[in-house]
Amino acid sequence: MTMIEASSPHTMNTYGRVPIALSHGQGLRVWDVNGKSYLDGLGGIAVNTLGHNHPKLVPALQDQIGKIIHSSNYYHVPNQEKLAAKLVELSGMTNVFFCSTGLEANEAALKLARKFGHDRGIERPEIVVYEKAFHGRSIATLSATGNEKVQKGFGPLVEGFIRVPLNDIGALKAATEGNPNVVAVFFETIQGEGGINAMRIEYLQQVRELCDQKNWLLMIDEVQCGMGRTGKWFAFQWAGIVPDVMPLAKGLGSGVPVGAVVAGPKAANIFQPGNHGTTFGGNPLAMRAGVETIRIMEEDGLLENAARVGAHLKGALARELGGLDGVVEVRGQGLMIGVELARPCSVLTTRAAEAGLLISVTADTVIRLVPPLIITIAEADEIVALLVPLVKQFLAE
Ligand SMILES: *Cc1c(COP(=O)(O)O)cnc(C)c1O
Repeated sequence: MTMIEASSPHTMNTYGRVPIALSHGQGLRVWDVNGKSYLDGLGGIAVNTLGHNHPKLVPALQDQIGKIIHSSNYYHVPNQEKLAAKLVELSGMTNVFFCSTGLEANEAALKLARKFGHDRGIERPEIVVYEKAFHGRSIATLSATGNEKVQKGFGPLVEGFIRVPLNDIGALKAATEGNPNVVAVFFETIQGEGGINAMRIEYLQQVRELCDQKNWLLMIDEVQCGMGRTGKWFAFQWAGIVPDVMPLAKGLGSGVPVGAVVAGPKAANIFQPGNHGTTFGGNPLAMRAGVETIRIMEEDGLLENAARVGAHLKGALARELGGLDGVVEVRGQGLMIGVELARPCSVLTTRAAEAGLLISVTADTVIRLVPPLIITIAEADEIVALLVPLVKQFLAE
């Protein structure tokens, strides 16, 4: 029995960790270093699109590692063009910049918006952001984030953000009324860290229209809700709109760090040589992971699976927990599901692990399920069977 240290003397104290260490996995199942098994309802926080040890992904990555892992952007990386073409086809947008993480993708989006302004003679561009948003932990992206806990201790924050509430077109218009410096509106279609809060379809359409009228960039952070999780490639596609800028990361490489900013015609030519770059972004291993992840998702019908199993999972949770005293709401779309309780419930993360289920609690009160897209109906039922008794016991305390 390997004991996992509660504190690690040599790594920085940045995470409140569950006291287990995972050793290997197969599909939806993972095992810790002591051989205990877990059902994976978290997927590495919406990252492990294809679950663990996928029989089609692993040989492809092994092949790539044996050829070339990294070459730098001094040279062409053929799979960059291949993955970009695929993302363009799936999104209806036009050009892609590759990076490695979500915050990097968002940082690039913020730079695009500022330069879009400067190119039009706006010296002090301002970007509309939202309450409860999460865009990352760099100085600029934490400034765009709508969570004081993320910002506390890191001031001065980056200027040039206007914050508005979700789903209120009147509030957005009032906050930007007569302001010639606004250049972009930036939000998550479904907020992840903020507690699984969705933008309504009508609101998405209204903001698209407003951005067209005002010549602002519509920038949609699909880092968590994108890449098929909701049953469409990108969650905004439920509203039939196309943004001007879309940051992606998490699920794009099925566990290999891959980030991307996809741009439409209004934003595709803003960056010129020297304006932006990164060492790791778009490297051969990352690009192979992205290309193969999308290929396998298409071959195996994983969007359809996400929609079908997600509806089943949400329905079962709503039946078992909806309406109970202490349960505020069961919500979400596809395989992005939140169960909001009336009081903080972070303790459930550890209790669920003890019971053999990996989940997370976000925004203090929201149980979050973002499992791999390969999940079956039987596995969804197993998640419900493990989670429901824990929640009921918690409610009774
Ligand atoms: C996770 C997340 C980020 C940050 O991604 P990192 O890879 O952790 O930098 C940004 N936006 C959203 C919506 C996220 O869920």
